[in-house]
Parts: sequence; structure tokens; C-alpha cells
Amino acid sequence: SSPDARTPLPTDGSAAWFERAHRVTPGGVNSPVRAFNAVGGTPRFMVSGQGAWLTDVDGNDYVDLICSWGPLLLGHAHPEVQARVAEAVARGTSYGTPSRSEVELAEEIVARTPVEQVRLVSSGTEATMSAIRLARGFTGRDVVVKFAGCYHGHVDSLLAEAGSGLATHAVAGTPGVPAASVEATVVLPYNDRAAVEQLFAQRGGEIACLVTEASPGNMGVVPPEPGFNEFLAQTCARHGALFVSDEVMTGFRVSRQGQWGLDGAREGWAPDLMTFGKVMGGGFPAAAFGGRADVMGMLSPQGPVYQAGTLSGNPVATTAGLTTLRLAADEVYAHVDAAAATVSAAAGEALTAAGVPHLVQHDGNMFSVFFAPQVDRVVDYVGAASQDTAVFRAFFHAMLEQGVYLPPSAFEAWFLSAAHDDRAIGHVLDALPGAARAAARAHEG
Ligand code: PLP
Repeated sequence: SSPDARTPLPTDGSAAWFERAHRVTPGGVNSPVRAFNAVGGTPRFMVSGQGAWLTDVDGNDYVDLICSWGPLLLGHAHPEVQARVAEAVARGTSYGTPSRSEVELAEEIVARTPVEQVRLVSSGTEATMSAIRLARGFTGRDVVVKFAGCYHGHVDSLLAEAGSGLATHAVAGTPGVPAASVEATVVLPYNDRAAVEQLFAQRGGEIACLVTEASPGNMGVVPPEPGFNEFLAQTCARHGALFVSDEVMTGFRVSRQGQWGLDGAREGWAPDLMTFGKVMGGGFPAAAFGGRADVMGMLSPQGPVYQAGTLSGNPVATTAGLTTLRLAADEVYAHVDAAAATVSAAAGEALTAAGVPHLVQHDGNMFSVFFAPQVDRVVDYVGAASQDTAVFRAFFHAMLEQGVYLPPSAFEAWFLSAAHDDRAIGHVLDALPGAARAAARAHEG
């Protein structure tokens, strides 16, 4: 049946919790996108996750296509992760001393990626913030280069927007960030080699690092043009700047070795520093930054650049991350790749059949759909922003009503997991045609 012909799902419970949350928390949420501001409606308060499914307080079940915004490569409540975490909890939840699982998690990261050493932290934001401090400490330079549309967490100096001209100073992306904090940040258009070359020619000697999402997933999925990351690595090297590849989203997700496994490993280059989070925490707060041993050696207590954390390397979080990575074998990636290919192809077909202009863009098993964009291919933030978010909104709600939980914003990647089996995928495929027709009505209207 078409979604508009059904009785709407009950949401009284979520609405009541949202109202209660509003009284004690700004906007009722602890991370803005969860509030559904971009799509409208009542955000669903979840009470459990099992495999590919989420269940809300009103008893509605949804196939989860966010997977906690990336971390849950194995799906919700994986039995072995649960068991190892329960054992870890039974041994105490935080020691404030070195412990074994943090060493083992660091070894696993070092084994899969080109980094020689890592430091564990608790969020992706902390990882990028610390990597930038380290890059500045190592080079003795201040300028940080980033790309418009890339998100690196809510680090002051990275919450910057492009100023008027190409190589001008950035402007703060939010109130509360002093102009001084972004004075040394330069924002360039993504995939634009000429802009990078021009900036480095003019100011190469001032640049501490260039930081980029290894393959951007925070403006929708906008993969690097072939050779772009290699070009960035070489350009940085030529000017004595560090190349910082942010793999918080892509790390251990788009391949065993993350995005680097899809480009750097083949092309024979490595970032100077990398940041990780999400999958490596197995659904717990764990993240990391790492890289060349000579650069990492500048970190306290070995070197002078200060960085620390009460819960860094937490035994429960590192156990969850380590167990997840140990289970993330080639078959897991093959399954997630195939599931993502099936769902993304079906989404494209449904939208085509309904006459909705769209683009499906991939980076391995990470993909997103741009609704009625003004471009043939999205290569940067300007292209990403040209889509019609009203069309997405209609599609989103029609999917939600049919029990499929998409990211509540047109600018986010869709994530699948090893737990997305035939039943879950079948449920998504059944929902797509009706949602595509809803999108078509919004497009025509
Ligand atoms: N870097 C990237 C590429 C991200 O996608 C994110 C979060 O989505 C972050 C950094 C920040 O991570 P966290 O939300 O754990 O602070």
C-alpha cells in the first residue's frame, strides 16, 4: 500500500519524551541533527537496537540505515561484542592507568593502516583537534587548510567557512568562535587542485597542515577525484606541511584499511597523520589519531606537545573497538559492500521510475542520494548544496512511515552493516517505490 494510504505510525511516546527532553536540554537533543530540524516532525526516541533494526518507545520497528552515524559496522548488539564488553565491565569500568586492551587496539590500528603510532582519545572531535595541535607543534607553523563541506568535529579552528576570496582568511562558522581562532584557517573548494596549488604557491611556508576527510561523507558522499588525495599528500610534502587524513567516518568502514586501502595503499603514499573514530569504538566513545613516529614522538610525555584525557583508552570502549575490528574480516566488508550496492541501486531505480531527478554517489559501501541537484555530478560543497531538500524531506518521511530510518538530513551518508540481511534489505526495497512517489509529488509541487 502507498505510504499515504496507511494509518500513521504512533508517535505519542516519542513526542512526550521530546517535550520532556526540551525542558532540560537545548532543542531536546545532545547532537543537533537528531532533532529532525532539517526534515521536521517528531524525532523517534529509541529503546533498543538489534542487528539491523531499531525499536522506538511507541513500539515501532525500523530498519536502521544510519548505524549510529557509522560506528555499527557489525550492526546493533552484536553478541560477541556484547559478551566481551560485559566481561570488561565486570573487571571495572575505568582504571586511570595503562591497560592491555588499549595496547591491543592500538596494535590493530597500526596493523591495518600506515600509521606507526597512535594516541587514543574519546571522540573524533578530540582526534582532529589534537592532530592539528600536533601538526602545528611539529612544524612550528600556524596555518591550517581545510575544504568547504568537510566536517571534522566541532573544533573551533575547523568550524570555519570560506571567506569572500579563494585564499582569504576564513570566517567563523558559528557564534562563539572568535575570529582569532579561524584567522589561521583557510577554506578551499573540495576537489579543486588549482585552488590548492595557488594557495601553497602563495603561503606554503606558513602552512602547518592540510586536513581533509579522506572521502567526504558530511556533505553527502563526495568522493575524491582519482589521484586527488595523492596530489594533496605530494603538495604538502613539497612545502613541508603535514597531510592529515580524517578517516573518522571512512576508517575501517569502506575497507579493512579504510579509504587509504582504496587509494593510498595502491598508489604508494601515506598521510603524515590520520584520525579515526566511529567503527574503531564499536559503538562506544573511542577515537584516535596517529601517524609518522617522528611526528607522534612530539606528543607528551615523549615530547613537548600536550594532550591528555581522563577516559582515553577506556578499558570498556577499547574492548568494544578491539572486538569489532577483530570481527571485521574480509567477509564483513564483502557483505556490507554488496548490501550497500543493492540498496543504493534500488533507491536510484525507484527514483528514476518515479521521475525524480537524482544522483547516487558512492565511496565503496558509503553512499548518499542527492535529490534534484543542479549538477551532473557533485564534486564539492556548492554542488551538494544545489539539491532540493524539500524533495528529500518528503522521501525521508515516507521511508520513516514504512519503517526505514534514514539519516534525517539530505547531506548525510547512508550506512549499512553486516547485520543487514535479506529480510532487512527486502523491507527497505519494499519501501522505496512509495517513498520515491512521495518525492515525485514534492518535486512537482
Ligand atoms: N571527522 C569526521 C570525518 C566525522 O564524520 C566526524 C563525525 O561525524 C568527526 C570528525 C567528529 O567525530 P565525533 O562526532 O566523534 O566528535
